[in-house]
Amino acid sequence: MAENLAEIGIKTTVADISQHILPTIDEDMVGTLEQELRSNGINLILECNIKEITSSGAVTDKNDLIPAEMLILASGTKPNTEIAVACGLKTAKGFVCVDEFMRTSDADIYACGDIAEVTDFVSAQKTGGGLAGSANRQGRLIASHIAGRGYETKPIQWSGVLKVFTQTVAFTGANEYILKKFGVNYQKMIVWTMSNAGYFPNAEWLSLKVIYNPINGKILGAQAVGKNGAEKRIDVISAVMKLGGTVKDLRDMELCYSPPYSNAKDAVNIIGMAIDNVQSGLARPYFGTDFKGLTVLDVRSSSDYKNENIAGSINIPSGQIRERIAEIPLDKPILVICYRGYLSYVVSRILKQHGIENVSFYAGGWQQYKSQI
Ligand SMILES: Cc1cc2nc3c(=O)[nH]c(=O)nc-3n(C[C@H](O)[C@H](O)[C@H](O)COP(=O)(O)OP(=O)(O)OC[C@H]3O[C@@H](n4cnc5c(N)ncnc54)[C@H](O)[C@@H]3O)c2cc1C
Repeated sequence: MAENLAEIGIKTTVADISQHILPTIDEDMVGTLEQELRSNGINLILECNIKEITSSGAVTDKNDLIPAEMLILASGTKPNTEIAVACGLKTAKGFVCVDEFMRTSDADIYACGDIAEVTDFVSAQKTGGGLAGSANRQGRLIASHIAGRGYETKPIQWSGVLKVFTQTVAFTGANEYILKKFGVNYQKMIVWTMSNAGYFPNAEWLSLKVIYNPINGKILGAQAVGKNGAEKRIDVISAVMKLGGTVKDLRDMELCYSPPYSNAKDAVNIIGMAIDNVQSGLARPYFGTDFKGLTVLDVRSSSDYKNENIAGSINIPSGQIRERIAEIPLDKPILVICYRGYLSYVVSRILKQHGIENVSFYAGGWQQYKSQI
């Protein structure tokens, strides 16, 4: 709504009670989207609790007035189960309970779509709702069952995609919040790659995150943000996930390549390879923006470093590391940061090969760091 209103010239504010927009998307992936809103003139106010709506606009719990002539409330949906409840159908947590063929507690009545209970793919917990795709697949499933050739419903992965001005965000499976809520052990990786060959005019940055089970490598969730090709990568990962694949399958996935469309190592391969490196013990990734107790070694070019850098960091361009290794202080653990996470991985390997063990690389590099601050 904000995008559409802004595009017809209406001055638009988005006020959200959370620290970030889009709760489906993790904090470390959402920054690009918030920057995109702001750079398109949206007044984005986060951690803003609206307590009252008046004829002049919305009033926050700090008594600030956000002036507005029109206000759209979009704080979530919940299904209307009134008819189902009146029929005496069993419901749980506001959703109509169904069996594997989407039959309700009355076997002659089926339920599907937003109102029906579903099983979550990752947590295996009963939950409710879904999206348009699952509603439509359930519709066919019910019709097939009525016609005597039924098949069982499958857990829901919540794959979705959405447009934020020129950016696309796509996701599948669980995010970190959900995994923490269900106490699921997980690890993650973030990479920044180009959508396709960098020398093509349509090449754009793409950030991709995969969350996985560190024991068996099964994929628990994925998110991607970029101007081109985010949904394509998530569709691939969603399919791997659905078929019970692991992060090694991402490394080995054979995807179509030609320069206008992707890279010879697609983003999906790259993230699989990066996770493979971590799982093999070759390198340790670092996430976040807290650099306390670390020596930050920035291996970008001196000119890029001079342009902007992390306070207190040191700069040795990656090509000079071998000659200048003695300059690196060893009193604290070392965090290597580069442009997008690749060179810092390479440098972390060089350091390890020189006996410097306490070293990690910044996953996603400067691109990732900048998207989070
Ligand atoms: C603004 C918006 C954007 C969305 N965008 C996407 C998207 O991009 N991708 C995606 O996957 N999902 C999207 N969704 C979610 C998607 O629309 C729903 O998951 C999907 O429509 C659910 O299908 P459904 O059949 O359960 O419900 P609905 O599509 O809502 O259909 C329910 C129907 O029942 C009718 N009805 C209600 N009560 C009665 C009654 N008493 N008697 C008779 N009829 C009644 C309603 O009028 C309605 O037509 C979006 C939802 C919204 C609100």
